[in-house]
Amino acid sequence: MAEEKKEKTRAELLKEKLLIKKESGAKKLSAEEIEKADEFCKGYMSFLDKAKTEREAVKAAVEAAKQRGFTEYDCTKTYKAGDRFYVNNRGKALMLCVIGRNGTKNGVRLGIAHIDSPRLDLKPNPLYESNDLAMFKTHYYGGIKKYQWPTVPLALHGVAAMKDGTVRDVYIGDDESEPCFVVSDLLPHLAVEQMSKVMTKAFDGEMLNVLIGSRPFRDDDESESVKLNIMNILYEKYGFTEEDFVSADLAMVPAGKAREVGFDRSMIGAYGHDDKVCAYPAIMAAFDTELPESTIISVLTDREEIGSDGATGMKSTYMADLIADLAEADGEKLRHVMARSTCLSADVNAAFDPTYASAFEANNSCFINNGAVITKYTGSGGKYSTSDATAEYMAKIRKLLDDKNVLWQTGELGKVDGGGGGTIAKFVANLNADVVDLGVPVLSMHAPFEIVSKIDVYETYRALYEFYAAE
Ligand code: MN
Ligand code: MN
Repeated sequence: MAEEKKEKTRAELLKEKLLIKKESGAKKLSAEEIEKADEFCKGYMSFLDKAKTEREAVKAAVEAAKQRGFTEYDCTKTYKAGDRFYVNNRGKALMLCVIGRNGTKNGVRLGIAHIDSPRLDLKPNPLYESNDLAMFKTHYYGGIKKYQWPTVPLALHGVAAMKDGTVRDVYIGDDESEPCFVVSDLLPHLAVEQMSKVMTKAFDGEMLNVLIGSRPFRDDDESESVKLNIMNILYEKYGFTEEDFVSADLAMVPAGKAREVGFDRSMIGAYGHDDKVCAYPAIMAAFDTELPESTIISVLTDREEIGSDGATGMKSTYMADLIADLAEADGEKLRHVMARSTCLSADVNAAFDPTYASAFEANNSCFINNGAVITKYTGSGGKYSTSDATAEYMAKIRKLLDDKNVLWQTGELGKVDGGGGGTIAKFVANLNADVVDLGVPVLSMHAPFEIVSKIDVYETYRALYEFYAAE
């Protein structure tokens, strides 16, 4: 017997009309869309394996951009609608630009992600020997929980610049055939004193020393023969001496490749999702934008993790300088173009973690698999140190995403007074542009192995693409 179709009650009808539907985002997607997300993330995972540092991310993005018809920016050249170029700032920050039909007249559309991630930088004089072990002294970069870094296999990435002008690439420890490096920790048997300390004191910055060798140079009775042996290996492999460390950007990063996480392979675990997980969607969105209404620029910036200071960070003028060039070419003024410009600051947010539920306020948290997260403001305390997107701009963005069926959610960065953090959004807002954060929810943010959902990565790409494509 067929079931009689019940009419909806008034409460049910009102609920449908007035309240936000609370259901898992993944359920809203078709099998086909989830397949597309899985496919997109294959590209992301291989990018991530090539791009652990900002320099490597720039290199990988430039290579891919050239294949997609982007050429290096020439400030003496006039660009027309549909032209595509890139600006490489010191090999550490990159801008991908596609000129729009109306150029800069109605402002530009900016998608900005950062490509630096927390890590252990080598000090300018890093090499030493202690009790017949060779070690590197490091200075951590960005916000890390120091206890997470010992006993994790590390790889050495970066460059050493020689006095003769040549630059040597260093990239060792990721391939299983290569050696890796490690920060040691105390065995539990002897850790009575260490274990009674508060976490911030149990492992201080000067203990992040990396073990890099233990065998002495054979035909030598001198002191520090282990150090000499290591330096000899480095000289043979890279041609540099101890003094060359002074002019090097070398960092210890977690070794190994991005991995699928979960029996269902729904997530990706890797070092450096923050913020390559938004940089890759920003790169792909620029690649896939053919002839936008307004000029679009995907900016991959550096230095975000340490406050955005420096020539390659968002406090630098490099982005505004490019927009000024484009404005002048259109007979416009930079200040007028900026005031009409809009930006998605593509950065990650903290995904709700049921194990640490008390750090979050569930009604205003983002969740794995619920799509790109729009973060109206970050900051700390009473909304200090953040831009706060206007209601009008929020409305514009949510309409765009809804019209294009992009899966999205909102989230604050943890509960009020729980700590806090910031993104580059405020630096763009300070240039008098409309900006809001949009990106991927991350579990274990800033840990050596961070977690994201494949669906969220893909929806972030779709959000950026539709933002660029909008009329
Ligand atoms: Mn970030
Ligand atoms: Mn970060």
